[in-house]
Amino acid sequence: MSPYEILHFNSSIGEKKPKNITNHNVKCPFCDRDNLENILDERGPILLLKNKYPVLEDTLQTVIVETYRCTPEFSDYPKEHLYNVISFGIEKWLEMESSNEFSSVIYYKNHGPYSGGTISHPHMQIIGLKNVDYHKHLQKEQFEGLIINKEQNVEFNIATKPRAGFDEFNVILKDFNSINKMADYIQIATHYSLNHYHKHCNSYNLFFYHIDNKIAVKIVPRFVTSPLFVGFSIPQVSDNMERIALDIKNIYL
Ligand SMILES: [Zn+2]
Repeated sequence: MSPYEILHFNSSIGEKKPKNITNHNVKCPFCDRDNLENILDERGPILLLKNKYPVLEDTLQTVIVETYRCTPEFSDYPKEHLYNVISFGIEKWLEMESSNEFSSVIYYKNHGPYSGGTISHPHMQIIGLKNVDYHKHLQKEQFEGLIINKEQNVEFNIATKPRAGFDEFNVILKDFNSINKMADYIQIATHYSLNHYHKHCNSYNLFFYHIDNKIAVKIVPRFVTSPLFVGFSIPQVSDNMERIALDIKNIYL
């Protein structure tokens, strides 16, 4: 991996970006549908548009707005809407990938104040990177784990060798026909993180990876990032993984 393959952040655009995740007086741009510009595709309440504040240089930044209003949350979506959001997102992500205009295309979601997000309205991001290949920053072991459940060629596990730690849930899809099963597991992991995991957990990220004809998703409950990871790149894993797996089985499966 080249350590200098790096993304450049444009701070003058960054300063103009509306941020309402911690300040609710800032009006939500995604609720104001009539004034949204550069819409690339639309499926019912779900929109794909160009990011109005493209802070990352040498990229194409797009946003999926998941709902009409700010209040619904991914972990509580009715099944039909959940499946529509995930299948639309995967389709648009793979479409951008197959354009061959980018070294790689990243697809992720932020939720909550510790997720790195700035807007609380449910949304995801698909970003084409001209010069950075995210695959170089991954290791296969980061997707292995203690299996919580496995059905229809979809595996749901807790990472035994996480990228950063402590607890990272992985969902691995081997057969694209089982995409709704993948969506179910992702939703369980987000719902568990916000409602049954650590009492102070109010944030998570979803990260999507396309590796060897498989789709892998990491669902990561977020807190302040560990200094051992920031300073030394040492991931940590917690000793209560088996209890978490059992909890999830008892509550959801
Ligand atoms: Zn909104």
